[in-house]
Amino acid sequence: MSSPPATPQLFPLFADLKGRRVLVVGAGSIARRKIDALLGAGARVAVGSPALEPSVAALVDAGRIEHYPGRFDPNWLNDAWLVVAATDSPITNRAVATAAEARRVWANVVDDAELSSVQVPSRVERGPLQIAISSGGGAPMLARHLREQLETQLDESLGDLTELLRTQRRRIRQRLPDIAARRAFFERLLAGPVPGLLRRGNHAEAERAFEKTLSEGAGTTAGRVALVGAGPGDPGLLTLRGLRVLNEADVILHDRLVSTEVLALARRDAELIEVGKQVGGDHHATQSRIHALLVEHARAGKRVVRLKGGDPFVFGRGGEELETLHAHGIDFEVVPGITAAVACAAYAGVPLTHREHAQSVRFVTALGRDGSDPIDWPALARERQTLAFYMGVSGLDRLRDNLVAHGRDPATPFALVENGTRAEQRVVTGTLAELPEAAAAHAIRAPALLILGEVAGSAATLHWFGPRPLRLEDAPATGTSIAQAA
Ligand code: SAH
Repeated sequence: MSSPPATPQLFPLFADLKGRRVLVVGAGSIARRKIDALLGAGARVAVGSPALEPSVAALVDAGRIEHYPGRFDPNWLNDAWLVVAATDSPITNRAVATAAEARRVWANVVDDAELSSVQVPSRVERGPLQIAISSGGGAPMLARHLREQLETQLDESLGDLTELLRTQRRRIRQRLPDIAARRAFFERLLAGPVPGLLRRGNHAEAERAFEKTLSEGAGTTAGRVALVGAGPGDPGLLTLRGLRVLNEADVILHDRLVSTEVLALARRDAELIEVGKQVGGDHHATQSRIHALLVEHARAGKRVVRLKGGDPFVFGRGGEELETLHAHGIDFEVVPGITAAVACAAYAGVPLTHREHAQSVRFVTALGRDGSDPIDWPALARERQTLAFYMGVSGLDRLRDNLVAHGRDPATPFALVENGTRAEQRVVTGTLAELPEAAAAHAIRAPALLILGEVAGSAATLHWFGPRPLRLEDAPATGTSIAQAA
């Protein structure tokens, strides 16, 4: 047994102030905020103060609150359940606290834990759902920090979920009088489609799904899959929604391209399965294995996250995976990610469009991997557009030759971004004419993204992340092997 703490802990309570009288002493901007919160909780508010801030005076004029003019008088506390002292006079605040103590009225003195018999916690609110955080007045900054973290993690739709459960509470108890069965039902309900439907604002559908789950009682859980874009590597570029589903996942199927920093954000006990495609491996076999794993884990009732580098719908085969899920009747959602072209451009200081030089951007890939040539070279060679090539490290000489042969200016600038947004990011810049040589001279490897177009020239001046961009002439003159990665 551990010994009791030196100072006893505060006892948390949620007070029902509806129709109850609360006195606020002071009428400045802090008092105003307290008055608003108290009115929001349905309290009958009286404010005691010699002078009133205009917005507080307006409330008095509108008959929404009462006013006791003049200096603090302990008789103001008659009939009060609670008093909030929010004056800028420590003497008055103390007088309020002392008078309240003598009359057994709970008192909160703003920013003074010692004088307060009750403290107002930091709060996270989602509709009727409230999370209150207190450090006992000892570390309010820490409480605030935690509050901010919770704000990012808890979806807004939790309020709707709370409301739905509140209205259905009696029916749930009638249907499942046994507590263990009820617990199993809630697990199933929360892991099932209802929270996701509420998040999408689909209330009618959510109610139907709720009814279905309730009719099944304690039965078995239906799994679901979230197809999530992990972004290019920097974990700060994951979306808030992506972070939330990662936090809830039981199983995470991820590509090799997903950074370890992003994976570190997953729930500790989540099962991580790497399903990355090996270079030169059998892509078809890999993809069927992914489909099989997705279906297997979802059928087992798991919350599955399929985590892909960048955005799942940009050269990510996300569409094929969703078709498989759809065919098997498995519920899914898609969380977009920041795609490599957008991220690498930003982190290399290259605006993808420009009012004068580039009116369009193309995302291009699969440069004739099997010898066939599906590329529309004349279209790509057109001026005044930016090209972003994915998987653009091998075959750079062929790329250059074709673009130049079809009329693109050999002096067109490029920026080749290796490991974009990661700590190891490198950027090579130059002109189309020298592209393959520059990439080889600096031994650029996958993952790398090639940006070609007039806009790429700005990397020289607008770069802000990682080391300065490299040029062909920066490479050691001899002894560099021509290294090319897939
Ligand atoms: N779905 C991903 C793209 C997958 S294709 C997305 O939206 O970004 C894989 C290619 O993306 C790589 O060969 C490379 O060209 C590019 N890529 C992905 N992450 C990258 C990064 N951090 N830096 C540079 N290129 C990247």
